[in-house]
Amino acid sequence: MIPILHTGAHGSSDEVRSWGGMVMGHARVSLVLVTTAIVGPIESKPIYHFRPGLRLLSLGFAGCNLGCTFCQNHRISQDTEAPGRHLSPTQVIGMARDNQVGGVAFCYSEPLVHPEQVQGIAREAREARLATVLKTNGFFEDEVFCPLVALMDAVNVDVKGPRDLYREACGIDLPQDPSQWQVIRNIRRAAALCHVECSMVIIPGFYDDPMEMRTLFAAIRDAGGCRMPLHLLSFVPDFRMSRWPPTPWEDMLRIKAWASDFFEYVYADFAGVDAMTTCPCGQDLVVRRGLVVENNLVNVNKCPRCDKRHNFN
Ligand code: SF4
Repeated sequence: MIPILHTGAHGSSDEVRSWGGMVMGHARVSLVLVTTAIVGPIESKPIYHFRPGLRLLSLGFAGCNLGCTFCQNHRISQDTEAPGRHLSPTQVIGMARDNQVGGVAFCYSEPLVHPEQVQGIAREAREARLATVLKTNGFFEDEVFCPLVALMDAVNVDVKGPRDLYREACGIDLPQDPSQWQVIRNIRRAAALCHVECSMVIIPGFYDDPMEMRTLFAAIRDAGGCRMPLHLLSFVPDFRMSRWPPTPWEDMLRIKAWASDFFEYVYADFAGVDAMTTCPCGQDLVVRRGLVVENNLVNVNKCPRCDKRHNFN
């Protein structure tokens, strides 16, 4: 991936921030403070089933409405003063054009804490016929979430994990029943508006109860459908959990087996392993090496061998 602009500042805040009460504005956005701009494939979001291999200009902004103790992007997510460059949406689209990408992604920290900026860039991107992609933690009210997701072609919703993880590592107390969680309800809303995939970081010590995990997977499946791709991501020790152990590969495989009872496409992304998409008949559909698509054999959304219909967009 090619960094065009990366100015992650050191420093963080202990407080869990709240962006409650934001409303969408309709004013034209003039300048946007961009902390990060990197060119790379859509697979890095991770999104595997929307235009495989699509190159994106990925943008980051300072701030997040959560304060996860494992945040790999804490230098921008937890520091609203993180340095960046003020760019107009037109300049951002020019940057995308200069780098010959096919779309713009909003990611790294939590883009939706800057609704007007995301809206301004997404609208110009659409006018320029560029794809729009979002990665979000999904904890937003309808009036922020729905209008912005309606401007996206593809979204990855990052479900952090079981209730204990949200409480201990993200500072949120959630209802016992995951179907009541705002993030799960927003998966359903997003799935009605655009292509959606879901990701979950597997942090050792939080995933030991199979019943709890099955309940969570069932809630996600009921919201996004069994054909929504699910990405299980191995944990990389960082920030306040830098001494926590990384995820053993056996744990990834065990949790993938549980998830596979609920989802047709489960990827256990572990240092680039398990990145293939294969049809149940055994035919390779998309061959990836790490994040690079080496071969895409999907034929008008069908398997070239058995004709089974898949869910690529
Ligand atoms: S939601 Fe994402 S960006 Fe925000 S603190 Fe948590 S891991 Fe970091």
